[in-house]
Amino acid sequence: MDQTIVVAQMRQLIQVLAQHNHAYYVMDQPTIEDSEYDQLFHQLKALEQQHPELTQPDTPTNTVGAKALSKFETITHVVPMLSLGNVFDQQELNDFARRIEERLPNQKIQYDVELKFDGLAISLWYEHGVLVRGVTRGDGETGEDITENVKTIRNLPKMLCSDNVPIPELLEVRGEVLIPKAGFNKLNRHLKKKGEKEFANPRNAAAGSLRQLDSQITKTRPLAFYAYGIAQCKPSHGFKTIAESLDWLKEFGFENYDHWVFDSIEDVQKKYDELTNQRSDLSVEIDGMVVKVNNIDQQLKLGFVSRAPRWAVAYKFPAVAALTTVENIDWQVGRTGTLTPVARLNPVAVGGVTVSNVTLHNIGEIHRLDVRLGDTVSVYRSGDVIPKVEKVWPEFRPVDSVEVHLPEQCPVCDSPVVMPEGEALARCSGGLYCAAQRIEAIRHFVSRKAMDIEGLGDRWAESLLHLDLLKDVADIYHLHAHREKLLTIEKMGEKSVQNLIDSIEKSKKTSFASFIFALGIRGVGETTARMLANTFQTLDALRNADLDALKKTPDVGDITAEWIIDFFQAPHNLEVVDRLIAAGIHWDAPIAPTRQPLNGESWVVTGTLSSMGRDEATQMLQALGARVSGSVSAKTKCLVAGEKAGSKLDKAEKLGVPVLDEQAFLALMAEYGQSLDT
Ligand code: NAD
Repeated sequence: MDQTIVVAQMRQLIQVLAQHNHAYYVMDQPTIEDSEYDQLFHQLKALEQQHPELTQPDTPTNTVGAKALSKFETITHVVPMLSLGNVFDQQELNDFARRIEERLPNQKIQYDVELKFDGLAISLWYEHGVLVRGVTRGDGETGEDITENVKTIRNLPKMLCSDNVPIPELLEVRGEVLIPKAGFNKLNRHLKKKGEKEFANPRNAAAGSLRQLDSQITKTRPLAFYAYGIAQCKPSHGFKTIAESLDWLKEFGFENYDHWVFDSIEDVQKKYDELTNQRSDLSVEIDGMVVKVNNIDQQLKLGFVSRAPRWAVAYKFPAVAALTTVENIDWQVGRTGTLTPVARLNPVAVGGVTVSNVTLHNIGEIHRLDVRLGDTVSVYRSGDVIPKVEKVWPEFRPVDSVEVHLPEQCPVCDSPVVMPEGEALARCSGGLYCAAQRIEAIRHFVSRKAMDIEGLGDRWAESLLHLDLLKDVADIYHLHAHREKLLTIEKMGEKSVQNLIDSIEKSKKTSFASFIFALGIRGVGETTARMLANTFQTLDALRNADLDALKKTPDVGDITAEWIIDFFQAPHNLEVVDRLIAAGIHWDAPIAPTRQPLNGESWVVTGTLSSMGRDEATQMLQALGARVSGSVSAKTKCLVAGEKAGSKLDKAEKLGVPVLDEQAFLALMAEYGQSLDT
């Protein structure tokens, strides 16, 4: 790569990292996830490793934290407070162990594993057992004097006492200040109640609380301190391992969460896997675990490299957010014709899985994010949540990035893509013709309330599509010509073939309303289909209906009217409809509304009817022009009440709505020429 490009990339990363360091360390208000920060940091480190001669003097890869804020006195650390190197997977953990073994050949290495608390590091000085100083890490060289605030932390000993061990002259303890989860939630609830700004996470809450100028405020915050190391001890404590020294601190009243010692790096990995699962059950927020060489002599031999010890590493939990680039955007056509943009990403590990495709939902979301081909984006995933693109990084946008537009034609069938005003979703207008919509169109077409072809939808539809026997719903009526092929379908014997063919044949006699419903026109459910059938009476009239006539039809809203027009304007749809009629689908002319005795009346059916299901009763009523509703109101014309009718019957009686039992209902239907067979 050209050197100027490398330097430009380094400068860009340094600038972005500096901005986020300030937000995180100085303002205690980060605006990106830690894992996003870590990834940018790693990108910079990788560039520096490939081109060490181009390393910039102000790179943050050699520094720790950020300069202390001037509002506190600054104190220089006698023993610098460093950071930790990071590893993110087993391979990197093994590399860490290998580097140690290479430096300490033929030595037995034990690892002390601790939780990596997500708080902030402080140093505590005890002189003759009295807490005299508390200092933040700052930039590792100098930190802020927060002694008064530190003294308010309840689980931190202000005076060292022990009956068993002598009190050292000087003890410098290092550890993490944090707010346990329960305290954090309580604090945020309290802030919310007072109308104050809540903290984004326990780490910010801890940092913000500890770095208050007024220690009375700090005192009200549920801070806790966990010790994880000793920087100085005079006289020397004499322990050989870090694990022993941590246990010794307990003698003085320091809390240190559980820690574990392992003889092999494989066991360390097992602990990591275990902790990854237990993480949410812990009372404190952790962002990984810290792996330390247990033996203190070995630690001294290993020493430090720039900003971190060689003998310890932070093994971080899987990223919840990661940066990657958008390689392409594909438009997927769903079963109902919806066009969904899917971003094809450079594969990236997020939340423990590799993500290479992410839905962008709709064109509006693309505009909201302003995402372009070639852009760097952040992908988020936590727990089982579906990965999503939450952020675009304009600072990393390449000059040749490409804007994304809604396609004009369906990528599957080339039909025009439509997106009515006010709608969020674009759709393919190909309807029955579009292969992507075929399976759903078929399932709907054969369903009970549509053409009622038993078994086809749930059992055979997919196999028939695979055999290329169904290009559209009209092909259903030609299946009888493909008996041989049908028999090749698994579990499809002679009998099933015959049943299927019989069922298809039977379906040819239908009602106009069922046929309209079966076409699967958007917005046209059962009731609307019936209203259309009653209003237009013939297929020709419906096909040629204009927008005004459609809008005037009961139950048809303005948008549905447009969808009906769209449907009958698509030549592919008309062709399928013609083929269906040509195949022999027919129906009796619907009863004209003028001749419908119950036209416009609102009826309700409740309870169990012995001679029919409620659906059939509903159909009879609808055929006579009634609207069948699910609830009784003052407007209800009549309630049909079967056995065990409950609250609807009570309500009807209360409102004085006439009630028919099953017998009276059947008699009335017979009077109007409706019987169970019609
Ligand atoms: P670090 O947090 O990766 O590791 C070092 C720190 O770990 C120590 O200083 C100590 O505070 C802590 N720690 C917790 N438990 C410990 C234990 N048991 N033993 C030893 N140390 C323990 O490194 P860092 O330099 O403090 O911070 C860098 C990290 O901060 C980045 O990796 C990033 O995750 C985060 N950060 C985020 C943003 C942002 O904008 N989101 C900005 C800057 C830094």
